[in-house]
Amino acid sequence: MEIVVVGGSDAAISAGLRARELEPNVRVKLLVADRYANFSICGIPYWFSGEVTDWQSLAHRTTAEIEKEGLELLFEHRATSIDAERKTVTAIANGESRTLPYDKLVIGTGATPIAPRIGGIDSPGVFVLHTMDDMLEIGKYIDDRSARSVLIVGGGYIGIEMADALASRGLDTLLVEAAPTVLQTVDPALGIIVGEELARHGVHVTCNVRVQTITVASDGRLAIHGSAGFETVVDLAVVAVGVKPATELAQTAGVMLGVSGAIAANRRMETSVADVYAAGDCIETWHRLLERPTYVPLGTTAHKQGRIAGENAVGGNAVYAGSLGSQVLKVCDQVAGRTGLRESEAIAEGYDALTIQESYWDHKVYYPHAQRVHLRLTGDRRTGRLLGAQLVGHRDSQVPKRIDVFAAALHHGATVAQLSDLDLTYAPPFSSPWDPVQMAAQAWERARARGE
Ligand SMILES: Cc1cc2nc3c(=O)[nH]c(=O)nc-3n(C[C@H](O)[C@H](O)[C@H](O)COP(=O)(O)OP(=O)(O)OC[C@H]3O[C@@H](n4cnc5c(N)ncnc54)[C@H](O)[C@@H]3O)c2cc1C
Repeated sequence: MEIVVVGGSDAAISAGLRARELEPNVRVKLLVADRYANFSICGIPYWFSGEVTDWQSLAHRTTAEIEKEGLELLFEHRATSIDAERKTVTAIANGESRTLPYDKLVIGTGATPIAPRIGGIDSPGVFVLHTMDDMLEIGKYIDDRSARSVLIVGGGYIGIEMADALASRGLDTLLVEAAPTVLQTVDPALGIIVGEELARHGVHVTCNVRVQTITVASDGRLAIHGSAGFETVVDLAVVAVGVKPATELAQTAGVMLGVSGAIAANRRMETSVADVYAAGDCIETWHRLLERPTYVPLGTTAHKQGRIAGENAVGGNAVYAGSLGSQVLKVCDQVAGRTGLRESEAIAEGYDALTIQESYWDHKVYYPHAQRVHLRLTGDRRTGRLLGAQLVGHRDSQVPKRIDVFAAALHHGATVAQLSDLDLTYAPPFSSPWDPVQMAAQAWERARARGE
């Protein structure tokens, strides 16, 4: 059997590895548009900050390691069309067209950055950030120009990670966000704390401003104008306002699209076209709590979906359990995380949502370096069901662990009250006999009992 996988990142490599793991005789060819297979683009900000010095080390696996698993990597092969009748995929490699037959095809073309409507967005010195090439190009620009200042457009997680990284590298860093608070994936009360942390580390955060035009001055610097009279001059700008699914290739096969224009794939990662699977940022994603497809472009999701596509391509019957939108990011010395629904999402979904916000010591206060963590917990008043949690705290405060406890509970449909029953670990340097997760659950139960 011949499996062709399009893409060389999280979803594609996971699919290829899983197929070969289950069926060592299957032939797996990967068409990779660029020269970087299996690089952790999630690690890009840490190369900019200097915490990762060698960009090559951002590879999850080296090319040799991937090939050792029996995957055939065809670099600089950009797939341009799929003939689902003939079961072939055509790619352009070195200017030449090449057609490959497949028995099963897996599409893992990922996402591309959204280019917002900003006049002059194509100017030299204005970058988007998604690929290793983008990273190297920005890095070279900073070095060649000895850049000292940068504007980040967009206060989502990539914009925040880049602001953190570039400020720590010594650049005068401005971050502009159109919404009233940064990090719209958490409720505004926590978004404010995130913005304050950036500011504490020298990032000039401006919210409620929409960047409108970018012009190149005679010295090559960028003059930026935005709403509410915003203006500044910087050496470069990085635009990070979200991604959209890369579906052009899939559409040549007549594959149906779904939520957010992403490829409609079922929980077995099958598309509407026979023998064509898809996974990762290019597809819509089953949401475990909402029980419907959503668009959740994350590396964690891409890995799982790719694995399922690979398994099913060789005759398996794996089913995607669903996403909860679990996410965590470092913001200077703090960490912000969330899982499930935040308050406004829960209300929009028709839940009788009750949210509490509390702050707790991350561990026993008599043990050195105790810090406050800020926790928001959302549950359904009517059923008592846990709906989501958000947490901001110091990077030593085990924020990801605590978010993961909530994620595991959500995965299993737990009520808020059941969080108190969990047998969680405790020693004074790490937690309290009741972990903050459980103290928040009890606070939520009290608020519910009070009729809040
Ligand atoms: C800076 C940054 C930080 C991030 N941090 C996190 C994080 O901390 N946690 C997290 O969960 N997620 C994070 N993400 C998101 C995560 O990286 C993506 O969700 C994940 O990479 C998606 O994997 P994918 O394989 O679906 O797509 P992509 O990684 O987008 O890869 C698509 C692949 O397809 C190839 N390709 C596309 N079109 C074609 C074609 N026509 N022919 C051949 N090849 C093609 C591309 O070259 C690439 O290899 C981050 C993303 C960025 C940019």
